[in-house]
Amino acid sequence: MKRVQTIEALQSHIEAAKTKGRKVGFVPTMGALHPGHASLIERARNACEEVVVSIFVNPTQFNNRKDFKTYPSTLKDDLDVARKTGATTVFTPTVDELYGGDLKVGPVDYGRLTSAYEGQKRAGHFDGVVAVVRKLFSAVRPDMAFFGEKDLQQLAVIRQLVRSEFDGLEVVGCPLVRERDGLAMSSRNVRLLGESRQDALKLNQWLNRIKSTACNGRDVSAVLQAIESEAASMKAIELEYIDVVDAKSFEPQHNASSQQGAFAIVAAQVGGVRLIDNCCVACS
Ligand code: AMP
Repeated sequence: MKRVQTIEALQSHIEAAKTKGRKVGFVPTMGALHPGHASLIERARNACEEVVVSIFVNPTQFNNRKDFKTYPSTLKDDLDVARKTGATTVFTPTVDELYGGDLKVGPVDYGRLTSAYEGQKRAGHFDGVVAVVRKLFSAVRPDMAFFGEKDLQQLAVIRQLVRSEFDGLEVVGCPLVRERDGLAMSSRNVRLLGESRQDALKLNQWLNRIKSTACNGRDVSAVLQAIESEAASMKAIELEYIDVVDAKSFEPQHNASSQQGAFAIVAAQVGGVRLIDNCCVACS
């Protein structure tokens, strides 16, 4: 596995791979790799001969400075995970290499995809996500790019970016990977201290409650309201939103059971750590 830190070195490596007819898969990450990331790399490896993993904590997508400053960094372990799961190249650029000293990013307007839920709660977040992914796609020029359904709204935003600017690039959405007890894996989970780790399970429990309501053919509005009042009475959890939406449009979808793309989504602060989770509520 090769590690490169400049766009120039990356591009000459990729060009050589393409000349040999190797298909290029790309997995962008912010590092602190866990089995969720590993599943993306393995999926990429199954589909492509050349697998580029980027590790870059993107400053422009953080609306909270403390979150950025305390974002976990485990580069040495990350390189091991990447190697073992099949990455052929790891791209670890500096902020200057990607942004050239100009951290101003333009606004992105994809309607509800960028303005609702994550877009509303994290002002400017998707502007930063789109800016960095656009730079990374332009540098790597992959045939396929792999993103987790863990960040469901981000996946919808990336699909829109690709439709409008990266014709021919295939975006692959990969299933959300959980801990054994149901907590969605996240690099931020290491910051869940003491009882917060247990409190965080509430998010998945709420999603399951919504799913069983929808699968019993009932309208989910009442259960959403009940969860909101339960959350309001809890000190440990600060609920930011919980809803059922169509995963493509992010329009609310409260009559969910028959809709294939209906997902329950949630975001909350638990012990000062911001967590998101989602699950498909369509029943087969
Ligand atoms: P991050 O490093 O958090 O920016 O995530 C990099 C990629 O890994 C994104 O496409 C995420 O959606 C994906 N990812 C993060 N956590 C998980 C998980 N638990 N299951 C599946 N994919 C994940």
